[in-house]
Amino acid sequence: MTDKIVVITGGSRGIGRATALAAAARGYRVVVGYASNRKAADEVVAAIMAGNGKAIAVKCDVGEESDIVDLFKQADQFGTLAALVNNGGIVGKSGVRVDEMSAERIQRVMAVNVTGSILCAREAVKRMSTRHGGKGGVIVNLSSVAAKLGAPNTYVDYAASKGAIDSFTIGLGYEVASEGIRVAGIRPGLIDTEIHASGGEPDRHHRLAHLVPMKRVGTADEIANAIVWLMSDDASYVTSAILDVSGGR
Ligand code: NAP
Repeated sequence: MTDKIVVITGGSRGIGRATALAAAARGYRVVVGYASNRKAADEVVAAIMAGNGKAIAVKCDVGEESDIVDLFKQADQFGTLAALVNNGGIVGKSGVRVDEMSAERIQRVMAVNVTGSILCAREAVKRMSTRHGGKGGVIVNLSSVAAKLGAPNTYVDYAASKGAIDSFTIGLGYEVASEGIRVAGIRPGLIDTEIHASGGEPDRHHRLAHLVPMKRVGTADEIANAIVWLMSDDASYVTSAILDVSGGR
């Protein structure tokens, strides 16, 4: 156990939860961000502490700048920031065409998925960059294969938000490459989490599994394993890079 901490937005469920457990197993203290599901976040913290790890749960809706600033202030009390996983993300209702979308829906998706990730990275860079007296670190951004496929007739706004994340990963990576910070992205494919239910179609990933070259959906653990590899020194020469973890999709 070190005093190195990782901040994981949306660490309470799905891919974020799996990443929290995997990071704790590798010796990180984990700041488990959650939007509203305190019970789920507390369960992740309890599971980490049961394994002799250290973790705290912090409420943070990444659509709110004040929540983000508070998240990192609480993290400062807990250890030295070594990694940020920009995982918290949302979809709007599935099956809505662009010509049917409200401005409120689009703005919320962009605020959470794009602005929230950029603001979290801002706070992380201020702490980790050698330019600011930090010791370096890693930022992993959750994109999606939707960034390449566009998600027509499903949620093009979400796909566009992940396209923005890909550009952000590349640009920020270049910006801080000489300041001790690596920035990488993951594009998950169809992963077995509750995000599909939140879009109104709980079995969407199973319905589309036949389109995956490997003919199956992925697990949250399979994404978490890639995230913690990117966080590790084994990926020490990887930056401004985006990895598809999608069964070939
Ligand atoms: P999920 O099962 O729906 O879990 C979402 C997590 O994000 C929860 O911990 C949730 O917190 C949190 N969250 C929701 N709204 C938030 C907000 N406004 N601010 C901060 N946190 C928020 O999602 P997932 O499938 O694990 O997805 C995680 C990431 O992977 C997302 O960025 C998603 O776009 C990306 N991704 C997922 C898939 C997939 O097939 N599952 C594919 C490609 C990309 P609460 O528990 O408090 O609600």
